[in-house]
Amino acid sequence: MRKAELKIFLSKLEGFRQPKPHLEQYKTPPDVAAEMLMRAKHIGGKKIVDLGAGTGILTIGAAILGFEAKGYEKDSEALETAKKNLEKAEEKYGELSADFVESEVSEAEGKGDIVVMNPPFGIQKEDSNLKFLEKAFEISSKVLSLMHRSENRLTRTRKFIKEFAQKRGFDTEIVGSYRLGLPNSMKFHEKDKKAIKVDLYYFKGE
Ligand code: SAH
Repeated sequence: MRKAELKIFLSKLEGFRQPKPHLEQYKTPPDVAAEMLMRAKHIGGKKIVDLGAGTGILTIGAAILGFEAKGYEKDSEALETAKKNLEKAEEKYGELSADFVESEVSEAEGKGDIVVMNPPFGIQKEDSNLKFLEKAFEISSKVLSLMHRSENRLTRTRKFIKEFAQKRGFDTEIVGSYRLGLPNSMKFHEKDKKAIKVDLYYFKGE
């Protein structure tokens, strides 16, 4: 499948009805999601895990590309939408291997050949994206993740993330950078009013 086709389909999936700010619910834009997933496909593997699956765009997109996909998410309302989105995808693409599990990220179980995720950006809760990264490193030796890039908070710089990964035996490569438009529900900081800057990381362990 071509990236453009995947993107068009992913743009038809529903996002969060009423995003919960404390969970930093923010649907990955379809073009970014398609790019992440094509990259995952290129890396290869059979099982993919999505941490903080939200309304399912990454889990479902991965299943469309032929992965056995599993999405962990703690918000049951988001998962209801994810399941509806999956039905929509199956109407078009036939039965898909996508499974959603209601779970706190730290309790996610099982391994994957790849983790693909857009975790909370750690704006509302300082450590939230690191909690996701920690779990991803436990689940897989290959992790593709969007991470917030704050240019004025030292602890969230690229250097910090690289060191965090290195300590856990992972090499870090930044494979993309984006500016994402923010929905109203996430505009807390004056400086972040218009967009949030994120990097797409590829972490590779042993
Ligand atoms: N992966 C989706 C959603 C990204 S937003 C997408 O790409 O569109 C981040 C998601 O992480 C939200 O759905 C939020 O509910 C979920 N989340 C936040 N904290 C969590 C936690 N501690 N455990 C599990 N999920 C969590």
